[in-house]
Amino acid sequence: MYIVVRCPRCRGLVLGNTLYRTRACAHCGHRLVLKGMKVIGRTESSTDAVTLIQTLKKSDVTGEEPKFKGFDR
Ligand SMILES: [Zn+2]
Repeated sequence: MYIVVRCPRCRGLVLGNTLYRTRACAHCGHRLVLKGMKVIGRTESSTDAVTLIQTLKKSDVTGEEPKFKGFDR
């Protein structure tokens, strides 16, 4: 399963995979330990994950933290 978390260092959105315990931030290289992090969204497919990231980036502009019940299945 794919999860989206927010990098604590640069606040960038990071797409992680629950198969792995850590993930390097694509923006600043910070190594994130996925366990225990606040999951912003989760999806089963990489296609949905890309859509989710794009939606989250748009919401970043408005500063809102939307809910993604549609992706939670
Ligand atoms: Zn980062």
